[in-house]
Amino acid sequence: MTNSINQKKCIWCLKSTSEVTFIKKAHTIPKSLGGQNFNRNVCDDCNYYFGNRDSHNGKYSIEVALKEAFSISRKRFLLGGIPKRKVGEFKSQFFEMKERKGKFRLGVKPSFMFASQLELCRAFKRGLYKMYFEELNRQKKVGFESSYDIIRSFSRYNLGDLPVLYFTRKIGVMIFFKSEAETPILYFSRMNYLYLDSQFAEIEFLGHVFGFPIAPFTKEEFENYASKSIEMKKDFFIEANIISKFTDIDISLNIMNN
Ligand SMILES: [Zn+2]
Repeated sequence: MTNSINQKKCIWCLKSTSEVTFIKKAHTIPKSLGGQNFNRNVCDDCNYYFGNRDSHNGKYSIEVALKEAFSISRKRFLLGGIPKRKVGEFKSQFFEMKERKGKFRLGVKPSFMFASQLELCRAFKRGLYKMYFEELNRQKKVGFESSYDIIRSFSRYNLGDLPVLYFTRKIGVMIFFKSEAETPILYFSRMNYLYLDSQFAEIEFLGHVFGFPIAPFTKEEFENYASKSIEMKKDFFIEANIISKFTDIDISLNIMNN
């Protein structure tokens, strides 16, 4: 007889302890972004997969694409302050922050020019789903239901494509604490402008808001969701766009310059 308490199942491949191991700690938010939490329902194979560049295109891993997007935003919030405790740091291969007269802008390294924007965006979206799904499972204890197969297919198995909405803030509307940049938190319902139903969800992370499907959907359902969501957010956000290039995300938070 198996001991059901020790019997684990991976939220990604759905394999259990009899087939896979669960030895390594799987950070839900990358450690180099200051992530502190683990998901114990991620097997070693799946954990390795997300961190390995061969899993995406041989150039960078899914996790690296995620870090490239958020480490600049995080640095932006941390600038000028002395962290209370030692937190992770990520060295970007694509970007650097440049400051002039108190204004910040994003410096782009030559390697970014040679990277495919579509590829990088796809890796980022898969990484965003990874972070969302592992935190969802950790915080809300859901994720094994078959409706989440669309997330597993795209994020873990690189099949199909899912639309991700990025919301552009109105200038000057941002609530943020420096401690959040040191050890970032993924919010599902921090502000009442974050939309949620059985098919679509939204998250806020390091000042950015994203919305995406979490269950099978039709084009019409997606469009309905998008218009309802934009209406809910009209006091705080200007617009929403489906991201297709990495540069569709305001990673340097230029909005803070204004
Ligand atoms: Zn697995």
